[in-house]
Amino acid sequence: MTSQTTTYEFQAETRKLLDIVINSLYTERDVFVRELISNAADALEKFRHESLTAAEVFDAHMPLEINITLDAKEHLFTISDTGIGMGRAELEHNLGTIAHSGSNTFLSQLAEAAKKDVNLIGQFGVGFYSAFMAGKKVRVQSRSWDGGEGHEWASDGAGSFTISECPGLHRGTKIIIELKDDAHDYAEKWKIESVIKEYSAFVPFPIKLDGETVNTVQAIWTKNKSEITDQEYNDFFKFIASGGDEPLYRLHFSADAPLAINALLFVPKENLEIFGFGRMEPGVNLYCQRVLIDQHSKNILPEWLRFLKGVIDSDDLPLNISRQALQDNALVNKIRKVVTKRFLKFLDEEASHNEENYLKFFSTFGYFLKEGATSEYEFQKELAKLMRFESSKGEAGKPISLTDYLGRMQPDQDSIYYINGPSRAAIEAGPYVEMFKKKGIEILYTLEAIDDFVLNHLREFEGKKLVSADRADLDIPKSEADGSEEQADKLNEVDTEALVAWFKETLQEQVAEVKVSKRLVDAPAMIVNTDGYMTSTMERVLAASRQEKGLGLGGSGKKNLEINPKNTLIKQLSSLRQKDAELAAEIARQIHDNAMIQAGLVIDPLAMVERNYKILARAAGA
Ligand code: ADP
Ligand code: MG
Repeated sequence: MTSQTTTYEFQAETRKLLDIVINSLYTERDVFVRELISNAADALEKFRHESLTAAEVFDAHMPLEINITLDAKEHLFTISDTGIGMGRAELEHNLGTIAHSGSNTFLSQLAEAAKKDVNLIGQFGVGFYSAFMAGKKVRVQSRSWDGGEGHEWASDGAGSFTISECPGLHRGTKIIIELKDDAHDYAEKWKIESVIKEYSAFVPFPIKLDGETVNTVQAIWTKNKSEITDQEYNDFFKFIASGGDEPLYRLHFSADAPLAINALLFVPKENLEIFGFGRMEPGVNLYCQRVLIDQHSKNILPEWLRFLKGVIDSDDLPLNISRQALQDNALVNKIRKVVTKRFLKFLDEEASHNEENYLKFFSTFGYFLKEGATSEYEFQKELAKLMRFESSKGEAGKPISLTDYLGRMQPDQDSIYYINGPSRAAIEAGPYVEMFKKKGIEILYTLEAIDDFVLNHLREFEGKKLVSADRADLDIPKSEADGSEEQADKLNEVDTEALVAWFKETLQEQVAEVKVSKRLVDAPAMIVNTDGYMTSTMERVLAASRQEKGLGLGGSGKKNLEINPKNTLIKQLSSLRQKDAELAAEIARQIHDNAMIQAGLVIDPLAMVERNYKILARAAGA
């Protein structure tokens, strides 16, 4: 060791990660070749981008390429690139820490995921450490494109690494791997050649293996569809998505007017965001005349399409456009609009060709479309068509579209009805759907909280209003079933009026109004919203987020209670309140709380349980 050598400890998370990589992932060792090639390609891409605008670059004469050399005798695998390189501080930071939050949950989930599918490691940016899958010692010699001094980083993947000065390097990075005893075949040409063919065929820089170019650099998306095989498409997907299965959907299209666009987009099978890995980075790269301008572009598609992988290439964009300039570029906005509309239309077509497949897509990625519908007006029409909801007339687990609903509407019906709840069973047992069932009017079940926000944003569909069934002013259309309104067992009008007044008095702290329900069939009571804009579910979500932000409970508006004079309990209360006012009042409060629960709203559970026991004690004869 020279005096310039410094030893560093790996960050704790990095050590854990190395442990996973070395001890759990060794069965899929080929992956390390792909990871290092992909890092080399990234470094070359970054260099190319910087050199477009930089006044001067170090070693400008070096060709942009990746070189792999093998030494079967010494069991060495060496990969070098002429990319952007790293200075001392970058070596220390980039190869000593994990860029991600590095939280424990991330790591344990990674360990789980990696057991199932080793391709995930590439997607989470822990790529470099895969070198230790095959290497017992790894050295990284690097010199930055600014021409600063070169350094060598070295480690055996245990607790620490060293960095020392390393004079005489060219621009870029060279990684020298001393192969483990059971990994010697990674110094064999046939082996490396086959790994490159499988994973790295589309790397846009020449890869030379012992001096011989082994990949064909090609822009598959500019080729004619008929010239591309399914295999080539899938290989390209694997390349661009860093592994994974075959894609769920593929859309390849080109346009000449109004803009020259070639786009190749893939929907993967898996949604990594629901694995709990945090927000996904966008996965579509923007090219101009086959040159990469913006990798994982944040501008070229709306954020809610971040689950897409692929390429958008346009000949109309200026080659030297900077990433900042992409943000408000009118042309970029136009491309964004054209491609987004095209993709949404494609989904709609897929939905009618193969519904089952589309439902699979929707259950995995529907959340993103919902995010789009609530965050942007521009594509609402298209997005509305793509939504799917469970429905009273649909089969469980087979959500329907708004178009399906329209086709089954009653002649004089001018609204599309929906109600939110935690499950199909909970909604069907609740009070809100009673009248709909009785009248044979279809009602959508929105099982996720975001659904109410979506429908609220959409407002209407094909001229029909979207209406939540927990609205106070709900006007359910008449139907044939109406005529037979049984008058018999109802509480009489005078008693009903008195009971309503008493309810209101008893619950004056809790409710705004008490009314006789025109909608309830069997249930004693229900909560309805006077604010036509907000549903109970939306209110619950907003209240929770207020609380999370430390803003307190906030004043959620008081609601109306509707009571059902045909219900036995309600009828009994009418006489009970004269015999035992106290018990009757407790029961009224319990009815209110029950209705709140059925509306999905928050109540005070402790007070409720206590009261409930009091009532039960009376029922038991106390
Ligand atoms: P990722 O590629 O997802 O960022 P990696 O673990 O593969 O994660 O690499 C970590 C970081 O190390 C990279 O982001 C990059 O900054 C740096 N790096 C790795 N390989 C190279 C290379 N060949 N040239 C320059 N920088 C590199
Ligand atoms: Mg990488």
